Amino acid sequence: MKKLIVISGSSGVGKGTIIKNFLQKHPDFKLSVSCTTRKKREGEIDGVNYYYLSKEEFMKAVNNDEFLEWTEFSDNYYGTNKTFVQKCLDNNERLILEIDVKGAINVKEKIKNSVLIFILPPSFEELERRLRGRKTETEESIRKRLSIVKSEIQKSKLFDYTVTNNTVEKSVEEIEQIIKDEQI
Ligand code: 5GP
Repeated sequence: MKKLIVISGSSGVGKGTIIKNFLQKHPDFKLSVSCTTRKKREGEIDGVNYYYLSKEEFMKAVNNDEFLEWTEFSDNYYGTNKTFVQKCLDNNERLILEIDVKGAINVKEKIKNSVLIFILPPSFEELERRLRGRKTETEESIRKRLSIVKSEIQKSKLFDYTVTNNTVEKSVEEIEQIIKDEQI
C-alpha cells in the first residue's frame, strides 16, 4: 500500500502554490478534496477546491461518520472524506492531503502509514505580509489566523519533515526528495 502524504502548514505559507506546482510536475499524484463550511473565494470551484457545505450538511456528514478527520478552523468546519481516502489507498494511488496541523496529527494516529510534511514560512513577518497581500480575508480573520500560526509552528516538531518555503521551486524539489526517500 502506498503511503499517504499529508501536507500542512500555516495559513498563507504558500502550501497551495507548492502543491499546485508539484501536481503539475507529477500528474500521477491525486489531491484529496475536502469539505468546508467556509464561503467560496473568488475563482474557487465546488468539487475542485472544496465541496462547500452548509453547517447543517456538514454536521450531518459528521454524524454519519463520513470524515476521516474534521476540525473547526477560524470559525468554519473542514473535513476529509473517509471513503475517498480509503479507496485511493486500496487502489494503490498516490494521494496528498492538504489539511491543517491538528488534522494532520489526527490522520497520523489513524493511518500509521502516512508521511507528515510541514511547510514553514521563511519568517513570521513574511507570512504576515503574504496573508495580507492575498486580500481575501477580513482584518479579524487575518489576526485570528496569525495567532493560530504561532501555535502551529510549535507543533511542527511532531511532523516527519519540515520544508521551509524560500522558493516554490526549492520546496517542490524538497518534497520530491522526501517522496524518493520514503519510496512513495
Ligand atoms: P482555507 O480556508 O485557507 O482554504 O483553509 C484553512 C485551513 O484549513 C488550511 O490550513 C487548510 O489546509 C485546512 N484544511 C483544508 N481542508 C481540511 C480538512 O479536510 N481537514 C483539516 N483538518 N483541515 C483542512
